[in-house]
Amino acid sequence: MITLNVCHLYGNLLNTYGDNGNLLILEYYGKKMGIQFKTDIISLDDAFDADKYDLVFVGGGQDYEQMIISKDIQQKKVALTQHIEAGKAVLAICGGYQLLGHYYLDATGERIEGIGALNHYTLNQQEDNRYIGNTIIKNETFNETYQGFENHGGCTFLGDGVLPLGKVVQGFGNNGQDQTEGALYKGTYCSYFHGPLLAKNEQLAYRILATALQARYPEKAAEIKL
Ligand code: GLN
Repeated sequence: MITLNVCHLYGNLLNTYGDNGNLLILEYYGKKMGIQFKTDIISLDDAFDADKYDLVFVGGGQDYEQMIISKDIQQKKVALTQHIEAGKAVLAICGGYQLLGHYYLDATGERIEGIGALNHYTLNQQEDNRYIGNTIIKNETFNETYQGFENHGGCTFLGDGVLPLGKVVQGFGNNGQDQTEGALYKGTYCSYFHGPLLAKNEQLAYRILATALQARYPEKAAEIKL
């Protein structure tokens, strides 16, 4: 039996909109392929072991939780960056996505530091508003369309070296301006989609599963035809 070691990062704090359903979906598709998941919640004061985990999942949350996590995640910055740079799999949603970037200016304008592992930053340029609604994006590299539901105050801007997860067909996306949604860097997939993201997007689930298998089980990863 193949076992994937999964880190549910801050799973007890970042858990809005059923985002942890993404792990259930990955587990469901994994099971069909004879893969089992061994999941640990790694939260405040826990060490993140970059050598141990095949997949990191981090969900969305409120500004309050993000503020608390912002301090703690700095202790995990080196190991998380190592995991990301090695091309290992990460799925980060909304607040979790924001924390992987340089910083997030929250609803009150307060600066919440990220770890800068990905080259993006998040402002709050909306007045008394949030980006809420059904969203459709197209990833032109993969020629795949993803559907979801977004709900965020932050406006994220991607820097050099980071691609969007997709181009906005419907909805607001990262910032309502540049038609980008989410981010893609090596094996790290980020999105504002809740709902959860993978429930409606099977191809993306298999893509993330293949990335998670790649380092330790390349033959198993190759069974996934993308
Ligand atoms: N608090 C962040 C924002 O409003 C993230 C929200 C979320 O994770 N849903 O942008």
